Amino acid sequence: MSSLTGGSYPPSLEGDLEKERLAQTIKDWSIANGLAVRPAPALVGEDPEGILAINAPVTLFPSPFPKGCFEDAQNIQASYNQLYARISQDEEFLGSLVEEVAGGDDFIASLWDIHLKVKEEGYLQNLSLGLFRSDYMVHQEENHLQIKQVEFNTIASSFGGLSAQTSLLHKYLSQTEYPLLPSPIPPAALDLPPNRSTEGLAAGLHAAFLAYGPSSLSHPTCVIFLTQAHERNIFDQRHLEYTLCSLSSVPVFRVPFSEVLSQTTLVPGTRQLLYHPPHNPSRTFEVAVAYLRAGYGPGDYPSSSSWESRHRIERSLAIACPTILTQLAGMKKVQQVLATPSPSGGPAPALAKFLPDPAQAALVQKTFTNIYPLDGTSAAGIEARRLAQDKEECKKYVMKPQREGGGNNFYKTAIPEQLTKIPEEHWNSFILMELITPPPLTNTILRNGKLEQGGVICELGVYGTCLWDQETGEVLHNQQAGYLLRTKGDQSEEGGVAAGFGCMDSVALV
Ligand code: ADP
Ligand code: MG
Ligand code: MG
Repeated sequence: MSSLTGGSYPPSLEGDLEKERLAQTIKDWSIANGLAVRPAPALVGEDPEGILAINAPVTLFPSPFPKGCFEDAQNIQASYNQLYARISQDEEFLGSLVEEVAGGDDFIASLWDIHLKVKEEGYLQNLSLGLFRSDYMVHQEENHLQIKQVEFNTIASSFGGLSAQTSLLHKYLSQTEYPLLPSPIPPAALDLPPNRSTEGLAAGLHAAFLAYGPSSLSHPTCVIFLTQAHERNIFDQRHLEYTLCSLSSVPVFRVPFSEVLSQTTLVPGTRQLLYHPPHNPSRTFEVAVAYLRAGYGPGDYPSSSSWESRHRIERSLAIACPTILTQLAGMKKVQQVLATPSPSGGPAPALAKFLPDPAQAALVQKTFTNIYPLDGTSAAGIEARRLAQDKEECKKYVMKPQREGGGNNFYKTAIPEQLTKIPEEHWNSFILMELITPPPLTNTILRNGKLEQGGVICELGVYGTCLWDQETGEVLHNQQAGYLLRTKGDQSEEGGVAAGFGCMDSVALV
C-alpha cells in the first residue's frame, strides 16, 4: 500500500512509554499463544525441571514486503515441489553430484552409503513425503524488484509452527496497538495476508498418514517426530503435532533420534516400523510416517548407532519425510547445477529435464542468482576459483558447504582465507554464490526482552508439501503451505532464528 512506502513505516518508536507498552503486549501475547522457545542456559541458567519458556525473538511491526514478489514466491511453490520430487526420483543425477562433493564431505558420503545399502536390499515403501521450504530475498535491479532464491530446504524445514503465530500476533497488534501510537496506523493501512503454515504442513503429514493406510497387524498407526535432544525450538514442532493430532486424531509421538534403536523395532520381512512407547511398553503402534526434525547434520550422528538408526528408518515401511534421496536433493550442489544456465542462456539442462514445460522452467530459472561450482576443470569452476580467491571480487560472494541448520557458510573475505585451509581437491564440495542485497529496511526487534532498532534484512520462506510415488512418479499431494518471514540485523550475515541471528516477522504487503 502506498501509505507504507513513504519511509515512515515501520515507525521508529521514540517514547519509552510506547515502546514498553508494545513490548509488554507482545510478551504476553507470545506466551499466551505459544510464540515461544526454550531459553538458552546462558540466559536463565539451568532449567533442570524443563519448565521455562521465553518469547521467540520477533519484530514489533510486520516488515513491508513487495506484493508482487510475495505472490511470485507463492505461485511458484507447486513447481518447486514437483521439481524436487522429480530430482528425488533421479538416483543417477543425485549420485553424480554426490560423487563430486563426497571426497571433501564425509557426511554426504555416509548418507549415500545408507541409501545404497537399502537400495541393494530393496526399498519397500515407494511413497515419499517432502515438507519443503524455499527461501528467498528480494533483489533490486534498477527499479525492478524480484525474488532470488537463497536455498531450498528438503529436511527439517522449521518455523512453520511459529510463523503462523507471528502473523496472528502482528494482525492482533494492527487491531489493538498500532492505531494508538502517536502516529497512528489504522488497521486498514496494513495488508496482512493470512498464513496457513501450521495447517499446511500438518495437512502434508496427514496426507501421508492416510496414504499409508491401516496396519496389516491391526496395530494403531501413528506419526513419529524424530527430534534432537535439548531442542529449544520445541513449540514450533508442538504446534504442528497438535494440529496434526486434531486432524482425525492422528497419534503423534516424539522420538529422540538417539532413542530410535531402543524405542522402535522392525517386523522381519515386511519391515513395518513399530513404535513402543517407553512409558508403556505393553502398547505398540505402527509408524505410518517418520518425520525428521533431526538427522540433517553430522552433529546428530555421534556414533555408529546413530547411523544404524537412520538406516532403520530408511529401510522401514514407514513413509520417510524425507528419504535420504530427498535429503540429498537439498544439497546446495543441486541448486548450483539447476541455476547454472545452458551455454545458450536457457535453463540448465537438468532444470529443463525435470521441468519439461518451458514456461514453468523459465519461471523457476528467474528465481536463481549466479551460483558457481568450485571444481578446477570446468570453465565456470576455474572462473569461480579466481573470484573466490580475489581479495576484492570475493566480497560479492558467499561460499557454502553441503550443510543445513545455519552457521556453516563463509562470507566475503573469509572465503579466500578458508580456501587456504582446505586441500584444493576438496574445494568442489563447496559452491560459490553471489550475495543478494535486498533494499534497505528498518524495524525494531524484541529479543530476550530487549529492543534492538535499526537496519534489517528480510528472508521469505515459502513452505510446500508434496507426496509422491518414487517408482511411478505419481504425485498424490502437491500444495503451497504458507510462509515464513525471518528478519535479521543488517550487520549479520547469517539469518537463522534458532541459531540466534534472526527473528520472526510477517509481511505487510506493499
Ligand atoms: P542453511 O541451510 O544453513 O540455512 P543458507 O544457504 O540458508 O544455509 O544460508 C544461511 C544464511 O546465510 C541465510 O539465511 C542468509 O541470511 C545468508 N545467505 C545465504 N546465501 C545468501 C546469498 N546468496 N545472499 C545473501 N545472503 C545469503
Ligand atoms: Mg537450509
Ligand atoms: Mg537457510
